[in-house]
Amino acid sequence: MAASGEPGRQWQEEVAAAAVVVVGSCMTDLVSLTSRLPKTGETIHGHKFFIGFGGKGANQCVQAARLGAKTSMVCKVGKDSFGNDYIENLKQNGISTGQNIIVIVAGANLLLNTEDLREAASAISRAKVMICQLEVTPAASLEALRIAHSSGVKTLFNPAPAIADLDPQFYTLSDVFCCNESEAEILTSLEVSSPSDAGKAALVLMERGCQVVIITLGAEGCVMMSQKEPVPKHIPTENVKAVDTTGAGDSFVGALAFYLAYYPNLSLEEMLKRSNFIAAVSVQAIGTQSSYPYKKDLPLDLF
Ligand code: ADP
Repeated sequence: MAASGEPGRQWQEEVAAAAVVVVGSCMTDLVSLTSRLPKTGETIHGHKFFIGFGGKGANQCVQAARLGAKTSMVCKVGKDSFGNDYIENLKQNGISTGQNIIVIVAGANLLLNTEDLREAASAISRAKVMICQLEVTPAASLEALRIAHSSGVKTLFNPAPAIADLDPQFYTLSDVFCCNESEAEILTSLEVSSPSDAGKAALVLMERGCQVVIITLGAEGCVMMSQKEPVPKHIPTENVKAVDTTGAGDSFVGALAFYLAYYPNLSLEEMLKRSNFIAAVSVQAIGTQSSYPYKKDLPLDLF
Protein backbone atom coordinates (compact mmCIF):
# COMPACT_ATOMS: atom_id res chain seq x y z
CA MET A 1 0.00 0.00 0.00
CA ALA A 2 1.36 3.39 -0.86
CA ALA A 3 1.52 5.79 2.03
CA SER A 4 -0.85 8.25 0.48
CA GLY A 5 -4.03 8.52 2.58
CA GLU A 6 -4.40 12.25 2.76
CA PRO A 7 -3.42 13.96 -0.48
CA GLY A 8 0.07 15.24 -0.08
CA ARG A 9 3.53 15.20 -1.42
CA GLN A 10 6.91 15.13 0.15
CA TRP A 11 10.01 15.26 -1.91
CA GLN A 12 13.35 14.42 -0.46
CA GLU A 13 16.56 15.71 -1.81
CA GLU A 14 19.87 14.65 -0.43
CA VAL A 15 22.17 17.24 1.06
CA ALA A 16 25.61 15.63 1.01
CA ALA A 17 26.77 13.43 -1.85
CA ALA A 18 25.66 9.82 -1.43
CA ALA A 19 27.42 6.93 -3.13
CA VAL A 20 24.18 5.02 -3.71
CA VAL A 21 21.12 6.95 -4.85
CA VAL A 22 17.80 5.15 -5.17
CA VAL A 23 14.98 6.60 -7.25
CA GLY A 24 11.92 4.60 -6.28
CA SER A 25 9.05 3.69 -4.05
CA CYS A 26 8.19 3.77 -0.36
CA MET A 27 5.27 1.56 0.65
CA THR A 28 3.71 0.86 4.01
CA ASP A 29 2.74 -2.80 4.27
CA LEU A 30 -0.34 -3.64 6.34
CA VAL A 31 -0.01 -7.37 6.86
CA SER A 32 -2.61 -9.80 8.24
CA LEU A 33 -1.63 -13.42 8.70
CA THR A 34 -4.49 -15.90 8.26
CA SER A 35 -4.67 -19.63 7.68
CA ARG A 36 -6.50 -19.06 4.37
CA LEU A 37 -7.87 -16.29 2.16
CA PRO A 38 -11.44 -15.13 2.87
CA LYS A 39 -14.08 -15.85 0.20
CA THR A 40 -15.92 -12.90 -1.36
CA GLY A 41 -18.09 -11.27 1.30
CA GLU A 42 -16.68 -13.42 4.11
CA THR A 43 -14.97 -12.19 7.29
CA ILE A 44 -12.40 -14.45 8.92
CA HIS A 45 -10.09 -14.19 11.91
CA GLY A 46 -6.42 -13.51 11.33
CA HIS A 47 -3.88 -14.54 13.95
CA LYS A 48 -1.38 -11.73 13.54
CA PHE A 49 -1.31 -8.18 12.21
CA PHE A 50 1.66 -5.91 11.71
CA ILE A 51 2.70 -2.79 9.85
CA GLY A 52 6.00 -2.96 8.01
CA PHE A 53 8.11 -0.63 5.93
CA GLY A 54 8.39 -1.82 2.32
CA GLY A 55 8.48 -0.65 -1.28
CA LYS A 56 11.20 -2.01 -3.52
CA GLY A 57 13.10 1.28 -3.77
CA ALA A 58 13.26 1.92 -0.04
CA ASN A 59 14.02 -1.74 0.71
CA GLN A 60 17.05 -1.70 -1.57
CA CYS A 61 18.18 1.61 -0.10
CA VAL A 62 17.85 0.32 3.47
CA GLN A 63 19.88 -2.83 2.71
CA ALA A 64 22.68 -0.80 1.09
CA ALA A 65 22.68 1.60 4.06
CA ARG A 66 22.84 -1.23 6.62
CA LEU A 67 25.97 -2.52 4.91
CA GLY A 68 27.56 0.88 5.41
CA ALA A 69 26.75 2.71 2.17
CA LYS A 70 26.10 6.44 2.24
CA THR A 71 22.69 6.50 0.59
CA SER A 72 19.95 8.83 -0.41
CA MET A 73 16.41 8.23 -1.56
CA VAL A 74 14.51 10.21 -4.19
CA CYS A 75 10.84 9.40 -3.57
CA LYS A 76 7.41 10.70 -2.70
CA VAL A 77 5.24 9.80 0.25
CA GLY A 78 1.78 10.95 1.26
CA LYS A 79 1.24 13.83 3.65
CA ASP A 80 -0.18 11.60 6.36
CA SER A 81 0.97 9.51 9.31
CA PHE A 82 2.21 6.73 7.02
CA GLY A 83 4.32 9.21 5.09
CA ASN A 84 5.68 10.83 8.25
CA ASP A 85 6.51 7.47 9.81
CA TYR A 86 8.27 6.46 6.62
CA ILE A 87 10.50 9.52 6.61
CA GLU A 88 11.38 8.71 10.23
CA ASN A 89 12.19 5.12 9.17
CA LEU A 90 14.55 6.35 6.45
CA LYS A 91 16.26 8.69 8.89
CA GLN A 92 16.67 5.93 11.46
CA ASN A 93 18.41 3.86 8.79
CA GLY A 94 20.82 6.72 8.17
CA ILE A 95 19.36 7.50 4.74
CA SER A 96 19.61 11.08 3.60
CA THR A 97 16.18 12.65 3.19
CA GLY A 98 17.21 16.28 2.95
CA GLN A 99 14.52 18.89 3.06
CA ASN A 100 10.87 18.12 2.58
CA ILE A 101 8.86 20.36 0.36
CA ILE A 102 5.19 19.69 0.86
CA VAL A 103 2.46 20.62 -1.58
CA ILE A 104 -1.03 19.25 -2.00
CA VAL A 105 -1.49 16.62 -4.69
CA ALA A 106 -3.22 13.24 -4.73
CA GLY A 107 -1.31 9.99 -4.49
CA ALA A 108 2.34 9.48 -3.80
CA ASN A 109 4.79 7.15 -5.55
CA LEU A 110 3.26 7.60 -8.99
CA LEU A 111 3.54 11.35 -8.69
CA LEU A 112 7.31 11.34 -8.81
CA ASN A 113 7.76 13.02 -12.16
CA THR A 114 10.51 13.91 -14.58
CA GLU A 115 10.64 17.47 -13.27
CA ASP A 116 11.36 16.14 -9.76
CA LEU A 117 14.07 13.99 -11.27
CA ARG A 118 15.68 16.98 -12.91
CA GLU A 119 15.66 18.72 -9.50
CA ALA A 120 17.41 15.65 -8.05
CA ALA A 121 19.88 15.51 -10.95
CA SER A 122 22.81 16.86 -8.96
CA ALA A 123 22.35 14.16 -6.28
CA ILE A 124 22.12 11.48 -8.93
CA SER A 125 25.06 12.70 -10.96
CA ARG A 126 27.36 12.76 -7.91
CA ALA A 127 26.57 9.15 -6.94
CA LYS A 128 28.64 6.09 -7.75
CA VAL A 129 25.57 3.93 -8.36
CA MET A 130 21.94 4.78 -9.11
CA ILE A 131 19.27 2.13 -8.61
CA CYS A 132 15.70 2.25 -9.85
CA GLN A 133 12.74 -0.09 -10.29
CA LEU A 134 9.24 0.04 -11.76
CA GLU A 135 7.15 0.95 -8.70
CA VAL A 136 7.25 4.57 -9.79
CA THR A 137 6.21 5.52 -13.33
CA PRO A 138 8.37 4.12 -16.14
CA ALA A 139 8.89 7.73 -17.29
CA ALA A 140 10.40 8.70 -13.92
CA SER A 141 12.65 5.64 -13.87
CA LEU A 142 13.78 6.30 -17.45
CA GLU A 143 14.61 9.89 -16.62
CA ALA A 144 16.64 8.72 -13.60
CA LEU A 145 18.51 6.26 -15.82
CA ARG A 146 19.19 8.93 -18.43
CA ILE A 147 20.56 11.39 -15.86
CA ALA A 148 22.79 8.75 -14.27
CA HIS A 149 23.97 7.35 -17.60
CA SER A 150 24.86 10.76 -19.02
CA SER A 151 26.91 11.56 -15.88
CA GLY A 152 28.83 8.28 -15.99
CA VAL A 153 27.08 6.96 -12.87
CA LYS A 154 26.69 3.18 -12.87
CA THR A 155 23.04 2.24 -13.36
CA LEU A 156 21.49 -0.76 -11.63
CA PHE A 157 17.99 -1.36 -12.94
CA ASN A 158 15.58 -3.79 -11.30
CA PRO A 159 12.58 -4.17 -13.67
CA ALA A 160 10.11 -4.99 -10.92
CA PRO A 161 7.19 -5.37 -11.10
CA ALA A 162 7.89 -6.43 -14.69
CA ILE A 163 6.00 -5.14 -17.70
CA ALA A 164 6.12 -7.20 -20.89
CA ASP A 165 6.57 -4.35 -23.36
CA LEU A 166 9.33 -2.53 -21.54
CA ASP A 167 10.63 0.53 -23.40
CA PRO A 168 13.84 -0.60 -25.21
CA GLN A 169 15.76 2.31 -23.64
CA PHE A 170 15.59 0.54 -20.26
CA TYR A 171 17.97 -2.06 -21.65
CA THR A 172 20.41 0.29 -23.33
CA LEU A 173 20.55 2.55 -20.25
CA SER A 174 21.19 -0.35 -17.82
CA ASP A 175 24.78 -1.12 -16.86
CA VAL A 176 23.40 -3.88 -14.66
CA PHE A 177 19.95 -5.31 -15.32
CA CYS A 178 18.84 -7.48 -12.39
CA CYS A 179 15.54 -9.35 -12.25
CA ASN A 180 14.10 -12.53 -10.75
CA GLU A 181 12.78 -15.64 -12.53
CA SER A 182 9.19 -14.51 -12.97
CA GLU A 183 10.25 -11.08 -14.20
CA ALA A 184 12.63 -12.70 -16.69
CA GLU A 185 9.72 -14.84 -17.94
CA ILE A 186 7.47 -11.83 -18.47
CA LEU A 187 10.22 -9.90 -20.26
CA THR A 188 11.37 -12.73 -22.55
CA SER A 189 8.28 -15.01 -22.83
CA LEU A 190 10.65 -17.90 -22.04
CA GLU A 191 10.08 -20.31 -19.17
CA VAL A 192 12.64 -19.69 -16.44
CA SER A 193 12.73 -22.38 -13.80
CA SER A 194 16.35 -23.53 -13.71
CA PRO A 195 19.83 -22.01 -13.96
CA SER A 196 20.09 -23.22 -17.56
CA ASP A 197 16.74 -21.58 -18.48
CA ALA A 198 17.98 -18.42 -16.79
CA GLY A 199 21.11 -18.47 -18.95
CA LYS A 200 18.96 -18.51 -22.10
CA ALA A 201 16.76 -15.69 -20.84
CA ALA A 202 19.83 -13.67 -19.81
CA LEU A 203 21.19 -13.88 -23.35
CA VAL A 204 17.90 -12.55 -24.77
CA LEU A 205 17.93 -9.66 -22.29
CA MET A 206 21.59 -8.87 -22.93
CA GLU A 207 21.04 -8.76 -26.67
CA ARG A 208 18.58 -5.92 -25.99
CA GLY A 209 21.54 -3.80 -24.95
CA CYS A 210 22.37 -4.12 -21.22
CA GLN A 211 26.01 -4.49 -20.21
CA VAL A 212 25.38 -7.09 -17.52
CA VAL A 213 22.32 -9.25 -16.83
CA ILE A 214 21.66 -10.98 -13.51
CA ILE A 215 18.70 -13.27 -12.93
CA THR A 216 18.06 -14.26 -9.31
CA LEU A 217 16.76 -17.76 -8.68
CA GLY A 218 15.68 -17.90 -5.02
CA ALA A 219 17.39 -20.80 -3.22
CA GLU A 220 19.39 -21.49 -6.40
CA GLY A 221 21.28 -18.19 -6.13
CA CYS A 222 21.65 -16.35 -9.42
CA VAL A 223 22.91 -16.47 -13.00
CA MET A 224 25.04 -13.72 -14.51
CA MET A 225 26.09 -12.80 -18.02
CA SER A 226 28.02 -9.83 -19.39
CA GLN A 227 28.81 -8.30 -22.78
CA LYS A 228 32.47 -8.92 -21.98
CA GLU A 229 31.84 -12.59 -21.34
CA PRO A 230 28.56 -13.58 -23.00
CA VAL A 231 28.30 -17.02 -21.44
CA PRO A 232 25.98 -17.66 -18.49
CA LYS A 233 27.53 -18.34 -15.12
CA HIS A 234 25.55 -19.85 -12.26
CA ILE A 235 26.43 -18.60 -8.78
CA PRO A 236 24.85 -20.89 -6.17
CA THR A 237 23.98 -19.60 -2.70
CA GLU A 238 24.01 -20.85 0.88
CA ASN A 239 21.80 -23.72 1.91
CA VAL A 240 19.71 -22.12 4.65
CA LYS A 241 16.34 -22.65 6.32
CA ALA A 242 14.17 -19.92 4.81
CA VAL A 243 11.38 -18.63 7.05
CA ASP A 244 10.26 -15.60 4.99
CA THR A 245 11.62 -14.82 1.55
CA THR A 246 9.68 -11.54 1.17
CA GLY A 247 12.05 -8.83 0.01
CA ALA A 248 14.98 -11.20 -0.63
CA GLY A 249 15.41 -9.76 -4.12
CA ASP A 250 15.60 -6.23 -2.71
CA SER A 251 18.18 -7.28 -0.13
CA PHE A 252 20.20 -8.77 -2.99
CA VAL A 253 19.93 -5.62 -5.17
CA GLY A 254 20.78 -3.33 -2.23
CA ALA A 255 23.82 -5.44 -1.40
CA LEU A 256 24.94 -5.47 -5.02
CA ALA A 257 24.67 -1.67 -5.17
CA PHE A 258 26.82 -1.47 -2.04
CA TYR A 259 29.56 -3.59 -3.64
CA LEU A 260 29.40 -1.74 -6.96
CA ALA A 261 29.82 1.57 -5.14
CA TYR A 262 32.37 0.64 -2.47
CA TYR A 263 34.27 -2.35 -3.90
CA PRO A 264 34.31 -1.62 -7.65
CA ASN A 265 37.46 -3.66 -8.14
CA LEU A 266 35.91 -6.93 -6.98
CA SER A 267 34.94 -9.28 -9.80
CA LEU A 268 31.24 -9.33 -10.57
CA GLU A 269 31.17 -12.98 -9.57
CA GLU A 270 32.57 -12.17 -6.14
CA MET A 271 30.07 -9.32 -5.68
CA LEU A 272 27.25 -11.71 -6.53
CA LYS A 273 28.52 -14.40 -4.14
CA ARG A 274 28.50 -11.83 -1.35
CA SER A 275 25.08 -10.46 -2.36
CA ASN A 276 23.73 -14.03 -2.37
CA PHE A 277 25.10 -14.49 1.14
CA ILE A 278 23.47 -11.30 2.43
CA ALA A 279 20.09 -12.10 0.83
CA ALA A 280 20.30 -15.61 2.31
CA VAL A 281 20.63 -14.03 5.76
CA SER A 282 17.50 -11.95 5.06
CA VAL A 283 15.34 -15.01 4.32
CA GLN A 284 16.08 -16.46 7.76
CA ALA A 285 14.06 -13.78 9.58
CA ILE A 286 10.44 -12.61 9.29
CA GLY A 287 9.50 -9.40 7.51
CA THR A 288 11.03 -7.32 4.75
CA GLN A 289 13.30 -4.51 5.99
CA SER A 290 13.17 -6.00 9.49
CA SER A 291 15.03 -9.07 8.15
CA TYR A 292 17.86 -7.16 6.47
CA PRO A 293 21.24 -7.64 8.16
CA TYR A 294 23.55 -4.86 9.36
CA LYS A 295 27.27 -4.84 8.65
CA LYS A 296 28.03 -5.50 12.33
CA ASP A 297 26.10 -8.81 12.20
CA LEU A 298 27.86 -10.14 9.11
CA PRO A 299 31.20 -11.96 8.66
CA LEU A 300 34.13 -9.57 8.31
CA ASP A 301 35.31 -11.16 5.07
CA LEU A 302 32.28 -9.69 3.28
CA PHE A 303 33.86 -6.24 3.69
P1 ADP B 1 12.62 -12.13 -5.27
O1 ADP B 1 12.61 -11.80 -3.81
O2 ADP B 1 12.64 -10.92 -6.15
O3 ADP B 1 11.58 -13.12 -5.68
P2 ADP B 1 14.57 -14.29 -5.34
O4 ADP B 1 13.54 -15.18 -4.73
O5 ADP B 1 15.19 -14.73 -6.62
O6 ADP B 1 14.05 -12.81 -5.56
O7 ADP B 1 15.71 -14.09 -4.25
C1 ADP B 1 16.76 -13.15 -4.41
C2 ADP B 1 18.01 -13.69 -3.79
O8 ADP B 1 17.78 -14.01 -2.42
C3 ADP B 1 18.51 -15.00 -4.41
O9 ADP B 1 19.31 -14.74 -5.54
C4 ADP B 1 19.30 -15.58 -3.25
O10 ADP B 1 20.56 -14.97 -3.17
C5 ADP B 1 18.47 -15.16 -2.03
N1 ADP B 1 17.48 -16.19 -1.65
C6 ADP B 1 16.17 -16.20 -1.91
N2 ADP B 1 15.57 -17.30 -1.41
C7 ADP B 1 16.53 -18.01 -0.82
C8 ADP B 1 16.59 -19.27 -0.10
N3 ADP B 1 15.49 -20.02 0.09
N4 ADP B 1 17.78 -19.69 0.37
C9 ADP B 1 18.91 -18.96 0.20
N5 ADP B 1 18.92 -17.78 -0.47
C10 ADP B 1 17.77 -17.30 -0.96
